Amino acid sequence: MAKEKAVKAKPESRNTQYLATTMKSIVQTDIRCRCCGTSLFSAGKLPDEFCTFCEAYGNGKAHNADANPVIKENVLMMGKAMREGAWLDGVKYADAIAEINDPYALYGAANFYAAFSDFTYNDVNYNLEGFMYENSSKRSDDLKKNKYNAMALTSKSREYFYRLLKIATSQTSIDEYMAYLAFMANVKLNRRAYISMTLAVLRGMKLDDSVTHYAEMVYMEKLASAHAAEYVSRMATPGYVNSFYYLASLLAKNKNFDDASSILERLEKSTGMHMASKLLMRISQVEKAMGKE
Ligand SMILES: [Zn+2]
Repeated sequence: MAKEKAVKAKPESRNTQYLATTMKSIVQTDIRCRCCGTSLFSAGKLPDEFCTFCEAYGNGKAHNADANPVIKENVLMMGKAMREGAWLDGVKYADAIAEINDPYALYGAANFYAAFSDFTYNDVNYNLEGFMYENSSKRSDDLKKNKYNAMALTSKSREYFYRLLKIATSQTSIDEYMAYLAFMANVKLNRRAYISMTLAVLRGMKLDDSVTHYAEMVYMEKLASAHAAEYVSRMATPGYVNSFYYLASLLAKNKNFDDASSILERLEKSTGMHMASKLLMRISQVEKAMGKE
């Protein structure tokens, strides 16, 4: 069992009524993530959202900008394969995307491989007991585990993250969306020093908007900062869907597994959020380990 960091800040006990109402209003929009092809979800009348799968920023405008039809098609096909758990089918689209060297699509492909790795790893090593992805049709039964082992998939995922970072850092001037993408890639790679560096770039732009607020929230939650709850609250109040995940994560860090799980289960049910499923599984492992002590 991994060590849990002690967190001083208790996420303000947001009134559960508010949470329940907001989470009930989560709807699937007709906008698809430009990175991974997942439908964006919204819990309010927000002009933008963050992908529940890869956390890329999305709004109608940003999504349709520089739409290379070849990339778009591959991203959509990769997303479809992912949703259907047809991971092997998704590989060719993910790799085709990587050939084109579009940073956004590379980010999506990197997340595709990371999730594929999770599935493979969990299939091999855990007794899931129907806990994660109760809907077994989401899991592919024909994984060629020898060819696609979890380690190989993880390294493919890292390779794509690094490639997008190389593109991002080679640009002479970088816009907010690219800065955010680089920040998130470093978060996913768990490169501590670079996470701070890329956040500093975003902060330097002094844009008091949802992209910067989201990055601050991720950073504070990752650091288990005493102020993390404030940052989560700033995103949860207007109804940014992923902020509920970060709220659950804070609750879990405070060992409030019941409330964390109930939020995560709702998210999983309404959006199929992969990171919610992952955290739910981890909580169940921690609880099991604690029960054995
Ligand atoms: Zn996405």
